[in-house]
Amino acid sequence: MRIVLIGAPGSGKGTQAKKLVAKYGIPQISTGDLLRAAVAAQTPLGLEAKAAMDAGQLVSDPIVLGMIEERLNDKDTQKGFILDGFPRNLPQAAALDTILNRMGRPLQSAILINVDFDLLIQRIAGRRTCRSCGQMYNIYTSPPKIDDHCDLCGGTLHHRADDNEDTISNRLRVFETQTEPMVRHYQIQGKLTVIDGSDDINRIFIRLCKAIEQSTLSNPEVARLKKTLKEPPSKVETFEKTTKLEQKAKELLDITETNPEVPPLQSSSGAIKEATTMAVKKKARKNAAKKKVVKKKTTAKKKAVRKKSAKKKAVKKKASKKKVAKKKVVKKKGRKKKSVKKKAVKKKASKKKATRKKKTAKKKVAKKKTGKKKARKKKAKAK
Ligand code: AMP
Repeated sequence: MRIVLIGAPGSGKGTQAKKLVAKYGIPQISTGDLLRAAVAAQTPLGLEAKAAMDAGQLVSDPIVLGMIEERLNDKDTQKGFILDGFPRNLPQAAALDTILNRMGRPLQSAILINVDFDLLIQRIAGRRTCRSCGQMYNIYTSPPKIDDHCDLCGGTLHHRADDNEDTISNRLRVFETQTEPMVRHYQIQGKLTVIDGSDDINRIFIRLCKAIEQSTLSNPEVARLKKTLKEPPSKVETFEKTTKLEQKAKELLDITETNPEVPPLQSSSGAIKEATTMAVKKKARKNAAKKKVVKKKTTAKKKAVRKKSAKKKAVKKKASKKKVAKKKVVKKKGRKKKSVKKKAVKKKASKKKATRKKKTAKKKVAKKKTGKKKARKKKAKAK
């Protein structure tokens, strides 16, 4: 199986390519991945490619073609390959034809995954990739189970540097101006199948497999090419041939523009602009709504906290009031007890005083009596 997957950024070709690798056991060759690896390793090629990638522009053809030719010579491509993100313009498509024909392994099928532009932007904005295993997620449509972590290997997920709003519109424009004409190149060769890519990942995959199996197993075009390839292609330098093929493709393109059988492709730069603005506005609206929800939640939380503390205060106040009241009662009781005691003491003291008084009165009476007795005795003696 020798397949090219074509699609605008965010069309899901990378995700689908990974599923094809698992199903058919042939390698995925992504020029985007190869270039990103070169940038990360800071090789001279990577350093050269970085500026174009950051700006959302295509990296120069010689760099990409050199890289792809080297990769296609690897042993694991003998059984077939899935080209993802390559070719991206007419010269690259023509050069690929040359390389593959020279190897005696022509391309069998080119599949365009077609997606509406506003959906593309949503997908790109939500796209996250695992740093360790390359598994892809979308925080809006297919989020990981744990935020920012890969479900498969637990690696951290990252947002690609060129998946930002400024670069997205450039990349979409590049797709429209450079890649779409190349799509027609394959249309003319009878190798193109267009599938709808705005559906669920698994349903797209079923459609994709059907398209691949039909085009690689029973395509009369393949049989015709196989026949022509029995004569080995002449050994012309790749770039000379690339220019010639590019010329030829451009001629073919001119024919297709007047050919009613070739359906016009969906996008136009106006449509891209409109879709980009709409998507950016949509995102802004979503963000504003999210912020509102967060604000509401925080104010509700604050209110709840305030209510709780007010309740606590009220409980404390009540408790302290109770304490004060209790103290007062205790004090009052104490005072009462004291006064009762005092009264008792006073009573006792006055009682004591009264008995003392009584005693002294008695004593006085007794004294008087004995005085009187003595006087009477004296009187009697005197008589
Ligand atoms: P991708 O991961 O396929 O979206 O590619 C990311 C970036 O790599 C693109 O925006 C380009 O700058 C660069 N790139 C990938 N493939 C190609 C290619 N075939 N030709 C030129 N530039 C490419």
